[in-house]
Parts: sequence; structure tokens; C-alpha cells
Amino acid sequence: MEINLGAIASPSSPQSNPVENVIILGAGPAGLAAALYAARAELAPLVLTGTELGGQAALTHTIENYPGFPEGVGGMELGELFQKQAERFGARLEFDTAEAVDLSQHPFRVRTYGKEYLARALIIATGASPNHLEVPGESEFTGRGVSYCATCDGWFFKDKDVIVVGGGDSALEEGLFLTRYARQVTIVHRRDQLRAGAILQRRARENPKIQFIWNTVVREIRGNAAVEAVRLENVQTGEIWERPTDGVFIFIGHRPNTALFRGQLDLDEQGYIKTDALMRTNVPGVFAAGEVMDPHFRQVVTSAGMGAAAAMMAVRFLQEQEG
Ligand code: NAP
Repeated sequence: MEINLGAIASPSSPQSNPVENVIILGAGPAGLAAALYAARAELAPLVLTGTELGGQAALTHTIENYPGFPEGVGGMELGELFQKQAERFGARLEFDTAEAVDLSQHPFRVRTYGKEYLARALIIATGASPNHLEVPGESEFTGRGVSYCATCDGWFFKDKDVIVVGGGDSALEEGLFLTRYARQVTIVHRRDQLRAGAILQRRARENPKIQFIWNTVVREIRGNAAVEAVRLENVQTGEIWERPTDGVFIFIGHRPNTALFRGQLDLDEQGYIKTDALMRTNVPGVFAAGEVMDPHFRQVVTSAGMGAAAAMMAVRFLQEQEG
């Protein structure tokens, strides 16, 4: 289905505090797919990218399960392709970050550091951010041995020993990536069963550079100028010991980026935006897509699909508004 909204005006001039047809918050797979669909409906959507162009997917070295790329595709490359495709149809990206929103009045208001934007419809695709262990040393050594992104920081650990915390897809995928550089990758998991999918499990178990420490959590990260060791605890026996390491990569899930919307949109107990199956939030005209509202699938392909759906619903909302 292709919806053309010729009747809805393109944004008015910047001098007159323009009212945008659609503002999209976030430029990951959900945001950029929404931008593509809204652009093809000739709404000239404005995307406020936030600080992570391409979203978390752009931090992934290779994405092997996005359909259409049988050999896999670089995460950053895929993000650039999404962007290019959306821009080709008139989406406008601004490298600006929403700092406050007012959804109590229509048009909605979005404030950034230096500007205020108005929007007839809003699509929230602000994604999720990595969870922290919240242990002593973690924030102190972030950037000095503690990392949440193997693709970004793996290179610094050539021939070093690193610890990866977590047992999900991210931990295994990033752990496998780290074996390109590191001498040894030790995956520390709090249970004795991995959450990750079968293919990644097999690859990790078969990789001679990877070893596992089961039923164990990190209690503290220690060092001087940089990380030198972790204090580990076996959660079954209570045994505590120190293990030397050069780096700690933490992949223990994510939390949705919804602080801006608290008190204005219905959130679930974990902070995800509640939507119906049509991506509608409790505020008419405000839609949400991708990891900001999806604790279940969290794949590039599902986020992109939800972004497209949110844009189609935004188009429909604007058509109804036009009467
Ligand atoms: P996840 O699936 O939620 O896994 C988080 C892991 O961290 C779990 O093993 C969990 O342990 C552990 N954990 C959570 N809190 C912890 C804590 N405080 N201390 C120690 N360990 C803790 O998160 P994810 O791996 O980031 O994956 C998120 C989503 O993205 C998933 O849907 C995943 O399928 C998807 N993803 C897919 C791919 C791919 O398909 N190639 C790649 C990356 C991510 P428990 O197992 O005990 O809960």
C-alpha cells in the first residue's frame, strides 16, 4: 500500500516556527524505516537522529540475519543504506537530540538544546541503551577497559585477555568478534545455560579462543590507569576470587530510552512504551516503534517493520485530521 498525502502541506518556512507533518525521534532501523515510509507518502518527515545514527545495529560488525543480504552486511553500512533510501524520497535528517517533549497539546512540541520543533504526528524510535552491571569500578573504568561495544573497542585489545559478561546473543556475537583481536575471551555467565541462539552457541563453543565461566557474576572491576582484574563470585558456591584481565565487555541486555516520555505516555513496568498492535500509544498522533516499545523481538528486521507500520499509521492519522 502506498499512501500519498498531497493534501498535507510540506513544512512551512523555518522563520514561522514550522509545524512539521511528522517528526521521528531516532535514526536506528525503526526510525529510518519510518522515515522511508513517511517520505514516500510525501510528508517530508524530519528525523531528529539523536547521538546514535544507525542505532545499536550500526555498532554491530556484521548483521547476518537481515533478509536480502545472504553474505551478511555491516551494521554501519546497513544504517547508511537505510538513510540514503529515506533521503532519496525526501526525509530530512537533523543531527539533533530531543531533550524534552510536550505531548499534552497538539501540535506536539519537541525541544532540543537550541530549538523547538512542532509536529502534527510523532514517531518515537529512540531505541534502547545497554544495561550496566552497576558494580564498583564499572563507570570509573568505562573507556579504560570497560566497554559495551566490541566493534568499537575490540581493536584496542590485540593479544590481550578480555572478559565478556552475559549469555545472550549479544555476548556471544561480540565475544566471537573479539576473538579476532584478543588472545583469550572468557565469557562469564550467571547461569550454566546460555540464552543465545543455537548457531552462535555452536560457534562460540567451537572457538578455541573462547572459554566459559558458569554460574558466576562480576562483583567488582579493579585497576589503576586501566582495568587490571575483576572480582568474580560463583553464585552457587559463594566462592569469590580475583581474575586478571585487560578488558571487560558487558552485554547484559538493554533498557528502553523512554525517560523523556515518563508521565506523558503509558509505559510498562520495565519502562517500554505501551502501544497497541498498530503502533499507537495512548496519545493520538504519537506512535512508537522498535526497541523503545519492543522487549520481545529486538531484531533489525522487526524494528524496521515496526517503523514502517508506525509511519503508515501516522499517515492515516494525518489524513483523518485533514478531515
Ligand atoms: P538478552 O537476550 O536480554 O541477554 C542478556 C544476557 O545478560 C542474559 O544471558 C542474562 O542472563 C544476562 N544478564 C542480564 N542481567 C545481568 C546481570 N545483572 N548480571 C549478569 N548477567 C546478566 O540481551 P542481548 O544479548 O543484548 O540481546 C537482546 C536482543 O537482541 C535479543 O532479542 C537477541 O536475540 C537480539 N540480538 C540478536 C542477535 C542476532 O540475532 N545475531 C545479536 C544480538 C542481539 P540470563 O540468561 O540468566 O537472563
